[in-house]
Amino acid sequence: MKIFNSRKNKIHRYVLLATLAIASIIASPRAQQAVAPSEDRIALYQALLDLQNPWTVMCVAAHPDDEDGTSLIVMRRKYGAHTVSLFSTFGEGGQNAIGPELYEELGAIRARETMAAAEIQGSEPHFLGLKDFGYSKSFAETFQKWGHDEALRRMVMEIRKLRPDVIITNHSVLNNDHGHHQATARLVVEAFDAAADPKRFPEQLKDGVTTWQVQRLFVRVRGNAAQNPDRQGGGEQIVTIDPNERDPVRGVVYAEEALRALQQHATQGPWPKTFAEYATRFRAFSGQQGGAPGQLPTIRYALVREAKAADALPKEARNFLDGLRLPEPIAAEVAPPTIEGKPLTQFVDQRDQVLSALVETAKHKTFYKDPNGEIFSDLRRTRMVFRFEHALAGAMGVSATLTVSNSVLIPAQSSSFHITVSNRGTEAVRVQVSGPEAGRIDQAIALSSKPGAKTDVPPGQVRTIPLTYNVPEKMMLTVPHAVHLYDEGFAGRLVYVTVFVEPVDPKLPFTPYSRDGRFPITAYHRFDVTPPVEIANIRPTPFVLTSHTAEVKNFDNALTLSLLNHTNAAFTGTLLTTIAGASDPLAVNLSPREREDISVTSRRLFPDPPQVTNGDGDAHRSIDFTLRSSGKATIASATIPVVPVNASVAPNLLIGYIRGFDFSLPNALNALGVESKELSVDEVKTADLAKFTSVIVDNRVYESKPELIAVNQKLLDYTNAGGTLIVFYHKSDEWNPDPRRSRPQLAPYKLLLGNERITDENAPIAFIEPQHPLLNLPNKIGPDDFKDWIQERGLYYPREWDPQFHALLQSNDPGETPLKGGLLVADYGKGHYIYTSMVWYRQLRAGVPGAYRMLANMISYGRH
Ligand SMILES: [Zn+2]
Repeated sequence: MKIFNSRKNKIHRYVLLATLAIASIIASPRAQQAVAPSEDRIALYQALLDLQNPWTVMCVAAHPDDEDGTSLIVMRRKYGAHTVSLFSTFGEGGQNAIGPELYEELGAIRARETMAAAEIQGSEPHFLGLKDFGYSKSFAETFQKWGHDEALRRMVMEIRKLRPDVIITNHSVLNNDHGHHQATARLVVEAFDAAADPKRFPEQLKDGVTTWQVQRLFVRVRGNAAQNPDRQGGGEQIVTIDPNERDPVRGVVYAEEALRALQQHATQGPWPKTFAEYATRFRAFSGQQGGAPGQLPTIRYALVREAKAADALPKEARNFLDGLRLPEPIAAEVAPPTIEGKPLTQFVDQRDQVLSALVETAKHKTFYKDPNGEIFSDLRRTRMVFRFEHALAGAMGVSATLTVSNSVLIPAQSSSFHITVSNRGTEAVRVQVSGPEAGRIDQAIALSSKPGAKTDVPPGQVRTIPLTYNVPEKMMLTVPHAVHLYDEGFAGRLVYVTVFVEPVDPKLPFTPYSRDGRFPITAYHRFDVTPPVEIANIRPTPFVLTSHTAEVKNFDNALTLSLLNHTNAAFTGTLLTTIAGASDPLAVNLSPREREDISVTSRRLFPDPPQVTNGDGDAHRSIDFTLRSSGKATIASATIPVVPVNASVAPNLLIGYIRGFDFSLPNALNALGVESKELSVDEVKTADLAKFTSVIVDNRVYESKPELIAVNQKLLDYTNAGGTLIVFYHKSDEWNPDPRRSRPQLAPYKLLLGNERITDENAPIAFIEPQHPLLNLPNKIGPDDFKDWIQERGLYYPREWDPQFHALLQSNDPGETPLKGGLLVADYGKGHYIYTSMVWYRQLRAGVPGAYRMLANMISYGRH
């Protein structure tokens, strides 16, 4: 087994490790878990099924969760195809339904959610790493940001490396949905031809990368197939996938597994909890009716493009691959072993018979060499070799797992592992743990070890072999994940160990398939590479500083971070916080593997009061953290930017707020130097709200805390009695009156939301009532306050409102009708009500000065 130390075909090594490593993790039992016999049986069944299918199906999607998980599952679990998914972006411009992380932090989480979903799907995920800059209305805008040629270059490269025979996608060039979807749909069509064209991106054609002709492209059909115009001059045929079929070995319906995979995308929830709920949502998505109650409608794809010489898709095709044929010599080489002409999957419970059939194949077949004598020059055949070895291991009942006591690697330190070899078969085996030279092969790290002593593992026994890995001093850190989103460090590093297996009984030779009569199995574990002690989770970033910031009572808690001791030893040292050249030391004592959350703002590091102007003219540009050991060695460091903002607030404010998904609001109130208190819904119900000068309902709180709807009258009464109630944006279906959800009009006057959004973060803002106090006191709001915005202006703009409301701002995306409801204010009784559909939280998080000045005016409204 020469693949890992071959000096040739560098790209193949990359591809194989990226593809086979993950596929192998999926197909083998999870590390460190006892293996139930049924799991063993499932793994063997899948391994035998995989021998029957030499094809690769790729699903292309714009964002994590756009993939067609159901079809991926059916193609792998029912047909044994190799399945990959390719995502244009990491989805970092999306929302987060479960936590405060956004942007690159969210992208790193979504990438890992995608990996978890892919594990269930039996597929492997890949990413183009194009920027998700938030909702886009058109492919033209998307290509402007991505760079059309750069995006195409990346997609062509992935197709050339992964070599799919068929591509499927949920995205159609004719759909008018998210611009990223439209752009991705267009890229797929272009890349289909470009990947096969040696004149396109010729610089890619080296290190084993060749042109690649995809055979077929299928686009998901929405609604009535007969009316589907998305044919692009291709075939007229529809392939139907039935998601309601039951997996014969796992005993679950394929779509149930698809739902379980979908639920891994937790930040994008809430997802259906039950299959029935899923069926309803699925119908809405596919635009299809049909399917019996409790069943999903079928999934239909139109064949929209074929390679010139492609084999015809048969009329009665039941999947994307039907009718494809390999050239004769290769077809013969990869033909699956059978028993009396029947597939081995039928003999999954007769493991001895399966083993005999595989050994016969190993004896007589020489399909592992190509005419040039290169063993692994062809990805398809290489994959079938790996699949064959995997089936062999399954039939012998031999597996290996890598057990670790610490899931991080620390540069320049050694890590201890155990490789556990388990023999659940009936034949004694002899194993030898061996590794190639240590070296990083893209994401994977070969665990270096000299070939060890041979160890016999009798049937029913387990042997544990200790290993040590000396982590190179220069190994790249993979934390924080957000910093490593685009260099793939977010996924950590895969460490693999190869175990060579040979039967003790000489009647089971694996020659001539392998010269020395052994076959390899590989065990993996994914690690983060960290400093010994990590400075993590610095909040808030950036640190916004106004003249009043240091006045707030909890200023000393305004900046927090975590120290994570990743080592098995205690740590003693000093954390230095440095602002404008002045440093403040904090003694640090951490137990082995301890995490400590600390507040680090130091009042004495800030002048009193800080001289602050907007954006520039201030010395406090960054806060630097340095962690030193007691021996003065620098262990870790981190820096966050400081954004000075010139914002004033009315005196003696006390703000109550019902928090949304993140901490942008309390952090912003801290930065403004305003006392504030988070309110639970129960507290809204019971507390005396009159002491608060304003109460803020954060974005989408009526959705995330629906109990608030029942006590909304308390908020309106508070407003009527003289308070200011400020409500941030909600989605229309979370806000508009709906008797089925017992949701009344939530504002004191009629206020109905639509679905219009302004996605251009630079869209010009016009002041409808420039003299209105909300735009003038205490901060005079002007055009500069709308500069340097992030991602978008606003979402779900009001479409209808009572004349009591004053609309203050107007804006629109280029070429569209102006929207006037972005900032609405009304008097109500003795108080005031403000509804704003602008995305302040993104601006507050990013430290956009204008957002702080506008928030200051909202909470000061009526107090001057
Ligand atoms: Zn999407």
